[in-house]
Amino acid sequence: MLNIVIFGAPGSGKGTQSDFIVKKYGLVHLSTGDILRAEIAKGSEIGKMADSLISKGNFIPDDLMINILNANIDLYPTAKGFIFDGFPRTLTQAEALDSMLKKRNIKISLMLNIDVQTNELVKRLLERGKTSGRSDDNLQTIHQRLQVYEAKTLPVIQFYDRQGKSNRINGTGTMEEVFAEICKAIDSVK
Ligand code: ATP
Ligand code: MG
Repeated sequence: MLNIVIFGAPGSGKGTQSDFIVKKYGLVHLSTGDILRAEIAKGSEIGKMADSLISKGNFIPDDLMINILNANIDLYPTAKGFIFDGFPRTLTQAEALDSMLKKRNIKISLMLNIDVQTNELVKRLLERGKTSGRSDDNLQTIHQRLQVYEAKTLPVIQFYDRQGKSNRINGTGTMEEVFAEICKAIDSVK
């Protein structure tokens, strides 16, 4: 099984690159952002709670997020592997993911850390905000998301460093250039 964590700041291109990876390697894409936005669209209880947190640039509580991810893994019993996009975003989530996978006798093969500098992230997210319809793609929320990323999510890099699994990917080339670097990293562990 090939299980990938795709990691990076908001706007680093995790969703775009995940689509390419899914096409080439046939993995199941689990995007917590997409899952939460689907709950919001349905108007479920989880969606109602997520809506106000997301539009302010804050995280959904770890225990809820962990339960959601756990349930989503179980939807794909025959998966060849998973790409985890938007999870883990905290150290608690990283530890929970390891134990969730351990119970199923699988593990993370590698973590892709897509690196993009902050001014470029802000530019991309503002540009995306013109058409995305996302409540969090506005200047105020973007700043909050980047702050939360630095405070809560950056430590996750060391978590995978310690396991020798993190791979820094330069996220500022063309989409094709970024994908080529990603393929090199994936193919080196396959
Ligand atoms: P990208 O633009 O690179 O795809 P993103 O950071 O802009 O990523 P999503 O991954 O779509 O956005 O997540 C949107 C929001 O959903 C987050 O800002 C957060 O509020 C919430 N969220 C998503 N994943 C998690 C998580 N693992 N833990 C807590 N909250 C989360
Ligand atoms: Mg996304």
